[in-house]
Order: sequence, then C-alpha cells, then structure tokens
Amino acid sequence: AAMRHLPYFCRGEVVKGFGRGSKELGIPTANFSEQVVESFPSDISTGIYYGWACVGNGDVHKMVLSIGWNPFYKNIKKSVETHVIHAFKDDFYGEILSVVIIGYIRSEKNFSSLEALTSAIQEDIEEAKRQLDLPEHLKLKEDNFFHLPEGKTVNH
Ligand code: ADP
Ligand code: MG
Repeated sequence: AAMRHLPYFCRGEVVKGFGRGSKELGIPTANFSEQVVESFPSDISTGIYYGWACVGNGDVHKMVLSIGWNPFYKNIKKSVETHVIHAFKDDFYGEILSVVIIGYIRSEKNFSSLEALTSAIQEDIEEAKRQLDLPEHLKLKEDNFFHLPEGKTVNH
C-alpha cells in the first residue's frame, strides 16, 4: 500500500522546521511547507522512504525522507522532511528542493533512547544507499524532472 503512489515527484521551498534538533544529531532534515505537504496524497503512508533529491539546480544526491505526524499541529497534519545524503557547506532555507520518492523503508517508530533513534536512522541511510545503487533506481537520478526550470511543480 505504501508503494501505490511511488515514484512520487515533488518540488517546493525549504522552510524552518520545529527545531527538533535534527542537525544537532548530525541528521538535518529539510522541511517542506505545510502547503506542499497538503498536496501529497492524503492516504500516503507515514514512515521512512528513500529516493533522489536536489537543491536548486545543484547535483542530484541520494536521500532519505520521512513522512510523519506533525507535532506542531497536534499530530493532525503530516510533515515531510528530507535528509540529503551529502555534506553541504551551508544551510539552504528558502531554496527549492526537488525530490523523487522511490521506495519505502519502514514505518514510523518510537525509540526508547536517542542512541536507538540515531542508529535506526543510520541503518535507514545505509539501506537507502544500497537500494539507490540498483540500476532501476539509478535511472531516476537522470530523470528530466531534475532539469526542469525551478519553481515549476510537478506532482504525480
Ligand atoms: P529545522 O527544524 O529547521 O528543519 P534541522 O535541524 O532539521 O532544522 O536542519 C534542517 C536544515 O539544515 C535544512 O533546512 C537545510 O537548510 C540544512 N541542511 C544542511 N545540510 C543538510 C542535509 N544534508 N540535508 C538536509 N538539510 C540540510
Ligand atoms: Mg528539519
């Protein structure tokens, strides 16, 4: 069921999140605006996904993305956050992030400790890297979507 909407193409501005300290954990997550999140299929599963991402018209990188319940809205709205698997020199708030979501890794979980959480995320990242090296997934890295003019939104 999680796979029904995939691959999912999405483009939108990177906004301030709710400061859960992802960056302090070494795993910053670029948040999409509420408006972009609302454009997602309402029945898309929460959890962790992998795919490709690019900032502005920069290079295309591997990513892991979480669709979760947004604590800011008392968990009645979703949040969509992308960790790009790349070391950026600077933050990129306000830039346009383009993502193609390709596959599902796991559902959302509650972790008993910060260590358990970060090690799960590290495993997600390793899984994403492995999956994205497969020829059928590498193909989407070259998709025309990443070369469309900025600001143009393509959701399907
Ligand atoms: P916030 O709560 O504002 O989302 P985070 O701690 O999650 O704060 O950090 C996210 C921000 O970090 C992004 O909006 C982006 O500007 C910056 N950033 C730097 N490197 C990355 C990366 N590899 N992946 C995602 N965001 C990154
Ligand atoms: Mg974030």
